[in-house]
Amino acid sequence: MTEKLSSELEQRFLDVEENLKVVRGRIEEAAVQSGKSPKEITLLAATKTVPVEVINRGIALGIDHIGENRVQELRDKYTSYDLSNCELHFIGHLQTNKVKYLVGQVSMIQSVDQMKLAKEISRLSEKKNLSTDILIEVNIGQEANKSGVLPQNLYELVDAAAALPGIRIRGLMAIPPAGAPEKETMNYFSQMHQYFIDIKSKKIDNVSMDFLSMGMSADYYQAILAGANLVRVGSALFGPRNYH
Ligand SMILES: *Cc1c(COP(=O)(O)O)cnc(C)c1O
Repeated sequence: MTEKLSSELEQRFLDVEENLKVVRGRIEEAAVQSGKSPKEITLLAATKTVPVEVINRGIALGIDHIGENRVQELRDKYTSYDLSNCELHFIGHLQTNKVKYLVGQVSMIQSVDQMKLAKEISRLSEKKNLSTDILIEVNIGQEANKSGVLPQNLYELVDAAAALPGIRIRGLMAIPPAGAPEKETMNYFSQMHQYFIDIKSKKIDNVSMDFLSMGMSADYYQAILAGANLVRVGSALFGPRNYH
């Protein structure tokens, strides 16, 4: 390793340590403000483009959930993550033909938005004698060309996917429209929380609404106020992304 590279890494290590304190502090504040214990909120570090050395530093500092959103990147990094005390989630758009790379490798797939995908996860999980935890991703802003099931099709998908033997539905995930005014974003978060509570109250077999995954660097505080208990934070922990 060259001197320059190692000092760059050293700086990123220090940044992650500092950023993690700040993010944890704000999560704690938001939790208390919404009448929850900070322990009820899971911080998942979104690690796309982040070098494994930096991710592992974060894990050493106590990050216990990480999420990748590209299958190829996850595969490239997989053997280098230190996952002995950390869960790995898949949080990005997923094609059915890539499911084989994730089943048995990740502890949760957060981005299931159609039956075809749920069926393939179930099928490959059964084949490996395991069951895979999933979240249903909702296209809460009803945006064109965005992943997620439309709200009007959510209940139908939950019911159908719940019948599959190889998966367990553990909650919901959403990414509201980027750059919307705070009030509008709050509205989307509240709608998601409403779906979450409503589905939970139905007590559907094989559906446990344990996780409401929403909120990223710009809005995790607001998301927690609206009821999120899993926030996915990238740049606020690791700095701006370098896509090369
Ligand atoms: C990148 C990413 C995040 C984190 O985004 P930041 O704005 O950097 O916090 C969260 N969720 C998903 C699905 C992502 O792809």
